[in-house]
Amino acid sequence: MLPHSWVMNSRYYLAAAAMGAVPVMIPLFDGDIDTLRAIYDRLDGLLLAGGVDMEPRTFGEAPHPQLGRTDRSRDDVELQLARWAIAEGKPILGLCRGHQVLNVALGGTLYQDIETQIPGAMRHDYFPGFPRDYLAHDIVLVEGSRLRAAVGAAAMPVNSMHHQAVKSLAPGLLVSARAGDGVIEAIESEGPNYLVGVQWHPEVFEQRDERTQRLFQSFVDAAVRGRG
Ligand code: MN
Repeated sequence: MLPHSWVMNSRYYLAAAAMGAVPVMIPLFDGDIDTLRAIYDRLDGLLLAGGVDMEPRTFGEAPHPQLGRTDRSRDDVELQLARWAIAEGKPILGLCRGHQVLNVALGGTLYQDIETQIPGAMRHDYFPGFPRDYLAHDIVLVEGSRLRAAVGAAAMPVNSMHHQAVKSLAPGLLVSARAGDGVIEAIESEGPNYLVGVQWHPEVFEQRDERTQRLFQSFVDAAVRGRG
């Protein structure tokens, strides 16, 4: 499999650092679980970034014809990291693909392609061909949710670069936001530990949007608290 590169958009690291975190990129050591665990043990929080589709085998389904590119190493590593963090209550923030990883890690399933699997859904896949900060649709945040408290808004416009979405919600999770067509746009844990997933890409707004800053800050604050 060599040579091989691990590539990640810089915006995740810039946004995390801007909120006071010290971000590190985790190598996809799917064949070296001891080293992966040693890296994990040094983290105060886990941020799961956006990326390619999840392989449907991870939630027990056969591939749909519209399934996009997948990455088995990312699936394996991110599901492992998520399960460790969930088991220990380490704070987790999942963005887009990361939001989907959280639902799968806890036993939920995904729509593999919104357009063909959710009749009447609005368009959610504004990628490629649109700027990453294109505000594609509104979301409504669920009253009483941790996310709504963190963001400090009842509704807000978001970007949308996904063609997959949460289908069956995993046990232990709550819906914290939906789009106008009912598609789940954010999830969070039922319990006290910080676990939030958002289907949009907030990492392109943190420099200018206070709601986004508060979202990242809530994650960083939880990570600092957990350090004790
Ligand atoms: Mn969307």
